[in-house]
Amino acid sequence: MKRFFLLYLIAFTCHAEWRVINDFEGGNAEVVQLDQDAKILHIMPELREGRGWPCWWSFKLEGLTVGEQFTLKVQAQSKPFREKLVLASAWCQPKHAWVSADGASWEPSAKGALGADKVMSYTIKTTTTRMRVAWGPPFLPSDSGKLLAEIAAKLPEAKRFELAKTRGGRTVQGIRIGDENASHQVWISARQHAWEAGGSLVGCGFIRWYASDEALNLRADTCVYFIPIMDVDNTAIGAGGKEAVPRDHNRDWTAEPFYPEVASAQRMIRNIQEKHGLDVFIDLHNPGADDPVFFFGPFAFERMTGIQQRNYQRWIELAAASMTEPFKVQPAYRFATYVKTDEERGRMSSGWVRANAGKCTISVTLETGWNSPLMSVEGYGETGAGLGRTLAAYLSEDPRRE
Ligand SMILES: [Zn+2]
Repeated sequence: MKRFFLLYLIAFTCHAEWRVINDFEGGNAEVVQLDQDAKILHIMPELREGRGWPCWWSFKLEGLTVGEQFTLKVQAQSKPFREKLVLASAWCQPKHAWVSADGASWEPSAKGALGADKVMSYTIKTTTTRMRVAWGPPFLPSDSGKLLAEIAAKLPEAKRFELAKTRGGRTVQGIRIGDENASHQVWISARQHAWEAGGSLVGCGFIRWYASDEALNLRADTCVYFIPIMDVDNTAIGAGGKEAVPRDHNRDWTAEPFYPEVASAQRMIRNIQEKHGLDVFIDLHNPGADDPVFFFGPFAFERMTGIQQRNYQRWIELAAASMTEPFKVQPAYRFATYVKTDEERGRMSSGWVRANAGKCTISVTLETGWNSPLMSVEGYGETGAGLGRTLAAYLSEDPRRE
């Protein structure tokens, strides 16, 4: 009986077949070819019709043999994502794929090799029989829930709230830390573009720093609102979100937003501005492959005078001093000149806030690049902590002073 069981076990082990699983939160992979004998898995990001760029991919692989290695090939989605637009392959081909045994800690794979056929090949070593592989370290709506629960447990004064129910019926979660009537008011949000997971990871680093003892003085007279993921629907289904139909979240800041979460953010920000004045608005993005860490500033920066000019200038100076790991932030603003018209600029969150807040308010976006093994969960987290230190230094000078 014992021997029979042993034989059965050996037979079963030998016949373990690879299984690609993509039907989980944030999952996305269209299998082009699965050749277990040759140890090749070839995928592309699956198109989510009308849901923006097909660049994000994330899947689970089961039935692996520990100690072996396999080749993961990644190519661009060949169908157009909008009208006749087909996304260039570079957006779905980071230098390193990211792997995880437990879904919590993520490591970069060896560097991929790009073939003449525009297919990227990564050699991946297996250390477990099942693993997760993704475009980058993910941050999902369930991670938002865990993060905000952690912060709320640490800080009794924190108040979790539902920013909105999405068009898909999902909850957009937020947290407020500090007294609603505090002398300084700050709004930080991430993931208006669902695939830019690093934006949420910077936010994660920020809010953990903000909940730490180092931020004790800052918390005493500041009220921070933090939204880890704005585009929850597209994040949940592993869609890119950028250039979604009819528009993406960061082109939706109009008089009549398409997305309930944008409308709700507008209402809350207007309310903060009316009652107390908003000091700082920061939107966290993570779009450029090899971009440095930098801030997009206001288009009118060069023409600004008085308090406005002083505040934007101080912010970038203090950021340059405080945000140094894993990359130094650029010491001067960049401007989103690729957005050509004033109308479109006004529909971006930072532009809308500038138009609806006061002369003391600064409204910026923080942009991080993603194509580096240093942009790990920890690396993004350090950037977020640096952002927190910048905020502390900035508010300690009282940006409302005349
Ligand atoms: Zn973005």
